[in-house]
Amino acid sequence: MRGAITVCRVACIPVEIQVSWPPVFLFVSWALAVRFFPRLYPEWSTSSHWMAGVLCSVLLFGSLLAHELGHALVARWRGLSVFRISLFFLGGIAEIGVDDGTPGDEFWMTLAGPATSVLLAVSFVGVGLAIAATDQRLGAVALYLGISNALLAAFNLLPGYPLDGGRLFRAVLWQIFGDRTRATRWASCLGLGIGVVGIVSGLVDVISGDALVGIWLAAVGAFLILAVRGRISTILTSPS
Ligand SMILES: [Zn+2]
Repeated sequence: MRGAITVCRVACIPVEIQVSWPPVFLFVSWALAVRFFPRLYPEWSTSSHWMAGVLCSVLLFGSLLAHELGHALVARWRGLSVFRISLFFLGGIAEIGVDDGTPGDEFWMTLAGPATSVLLAVSFVGVGLAIAATDQRLGAVALYLGISNALLAAFNLLPGYPLDGGRLFRAVLWQIFGDRTRATRWASCLGLGIGVVGIVSGLVDVISGDALVGIWLAAVGAFLILAVRGRISTILTSPS
């Protein structure tokens, strides 16, 4: 893909970072180190805030990668082609040749992403609660990642295609109708609806002063609409 570099291969699947990702990684690290952790833990030193912020950011994007790998590895197990996984400014994308699949392939391949995030959420919360009393900093990082992974799973299970929830909905309709095109039409309507809600809520946030959240929401909404209209053919996973 243009504007991307392959940083590694996991189980022979190329993992790419797009040029739009590093600024977002730096911004998330900065926001956690300068805004989030100082508000919650003002007694920590500045270096502790930065270490926690950067560690959270690295593991947050690692969690996104794990979510995409969940999709990709199950897709390959079901016999589908997996081209690459990319991290970009809205989150992660797994490029999978879903056109040759069955409703069952799509259902299990899609479910694997949120299931990975739920597993990570439970693991991080468990570790966070276990170590919070002995190491407050690492406990706080683990709890932040637990909550982030839970939100990631919840957001992606919204029923609008091409989010994971919309793909699961389409797989079920596809099985019932026996007609993929008809199932896609129904699931796409919900995707368009969620895209429009994202753009409108983003604009409301921008007007009310929360510009960054608003711009992110509007960008996810616009991306969903473009994907529904067939401009982008990928599995989007976006952090909430
Ligand atoms: Zn996903």
